[in-house]
Parts: sequence; C-alpha cells; structure tokens
Amino acid sequence: MIDTLNWWQDCIRDVPDFPKPGIVFKDITPLLANGEAFSAVVSELACHVGSDVDAIVGIESRGFIFGAALAQQLGLGLVTVRKPGKLPANVHSVEYELEYGMDRLEIHRDALSAGHKVVVVDDLLATGGTAAATVQLVRKLGAEVDACLFVIELSFLNGKEALADVNVHSLLCYE
Ligand code: AMP
Repeated sequence: MIDTLNWWQDCIRDVPDFPKPGIVFKDITPLLANGEAFSAVVSELACHVGSDVDAIVGIESRGFIFGAALAQQLGLGLVTVRKPGKLPANVHSVEYELEYGMDRLEIHRDALSAGHKVVVVDDLLATGGTAAATVQLVRKLGAEVDACLFVIELSFLNGKEALADVNVHSLLCYE
C-alpha cells in the first residue's frame, strides 16, 4: 500500500503561490491524466462507500470529477453541490467562512430526501469549511451523511475538526 500511496503522491503536483502567495496548490491534473492511477484512486474511494449508501454528493468543481467516476463505478446517482447561481431549480443555500470573507454553496431542494444516506466527495480537505457546508446542505434535506471522502487531506489545517460529527476518510494525508 505504501508503494501505491507513493505512486499517487507522485501524480500530484505542488504549485507554489497559486492561486495567491503562500498557498501550495495540490494540482490533481497529472493524476487525472494517468488512467491507471485515476482508476486506482476511484476504486480505493469505492472501498469506503457502504452498500446501504443511496447517492454520491460531489462538491464543485473537482469533487465532480471524483464523485462522478465513483458514482458510475458503484451504479449510484450523483448529486451536485454548486457555487451560487449555478443550479437552475429551487435550492437550499448555506453560507460558510473563508479565510477572508464568506462563500455560499447550494443544492437542489429535491435532490435528496429523508431516509437517503449519502457519501460526500471532494478532491481535497483543507480547513473543512466547504465540506462542513455541504454536510449542512444534505442535512437540510433530511438526508444522512455516512462519510466524507477526500483524495487529499492537509491535516495541518485541522479540517477534521470542522467535520467532527462525520466519518472522514482521505487517501493521502499531508502533515
Ligand atoms: P476547505 O474548505 O478549506 O477545506 O477547502 C477545500 C476546497 O478548496 C476544496 O474544494 C479544494 O479543492 C480547495 N482547496 C483548498 N486548498 C487547496 C490546495 N492547497 N490545493 C488545492 N485545492 C485546494
């Protein structure tokens, strides 16, 4: 497994000072471009989805890539959580804090309902604000979050604390 993790890490490129000075951006595009590695990552994510899960929830935008592939592999539907103004029908919104200022995420009101169990997917867990807002949106619809899955976790940003009441699993952890 260590070899596999090293292989995946080698497929993720660090881009310093993007999108602003001081941020080291974890660029997953080399991983996506490597068919074998991309497929192996999605299969590993699939191992963490219980058989009683009804849908995958993908977070805009890189969460859509892994979420869609995962949903397809498992024969599940994909629910999209999007930035404001992108979803065409009636939505629920949740505001969340960024380092500077606020942002908002939205979900279609009819995307899920009480009794549904979902797994939330994104490429990367940093401070956890984005994923925590997504968990809130799912719960607003009465559905249950079984787990949040990430390809990458930046554990020094303590994102798991924002997701304290949720199962969290990440494939690659940067300390
Ligand atoms: P956060 O809400 O702080 O957990 O941020 C997570 C979201 O921001 C995810 O959707 C990531 O795609 C993106 N993100 C945050 N930090 C980085 C980073 N260093 N490299 C790549 N994406 C990031």
